[in-house]
Parts: sequence; C-alpha cells; structure tokens
Amino acid sequence: MTIFYSCRQAHELLSQALDRRLGLVERTRLQVHLSICRSCTHFKGQMGTLRQSMQTWSHQAEEQTSTPPTQLKDEKPDKGT
Ligand SMILES: [Zn+2]
Repeated sequence: MTIFYSCRQAHELLSQALDRRLGLVERTRLQVHLSICRSCTHFKGQMGTLRQSMQTWSHQAEEQTSTPPTQLKDEKPDKGT
C-alpha cells in the first residue's frame, strides 16, 4: 500500500470530483500525485474546462426554462353563457 495514487486512480478521482466532494484524504493524495505527475495535472486542467462549459450550459438551460411561456394560454374559456 502506497500513499501515492496511480495515474488511473488519479484520473478516476478527478472525474468523480465533478460529481461529488472529495474527502480530505482523497484530495491530499490527489494533490501529492498532481505535484509529481505532469500528465495528470494536464488532465485536471481539461476536466476544469469541461466543468466550466457544463456549468455554462446548465446556466443557459436554466435561463431558458425560467422564462415564462407568454403566448401559450391566450384563449379564454367561455363561462357564464
Ligand atoms: Zn498521473
């Protein structure tokens, strides 16, 4: 058992970090790995870019759905006739 993550483990954690909060131990080990591994640092940068574009996308989707449908209910029901 080593305190160092393999690149595969590091990649796995980096993708999991998009969905959940990593624990302190996981984060620390990941930091240790990133400090010695250039390719995983690069991978992390790519994940960050991916996350940013996903956030932009969900933000845009939110804006679209929060716009009230103004032209849907135009007809008045006939009552009192
Ligand atoms: Zn690595």
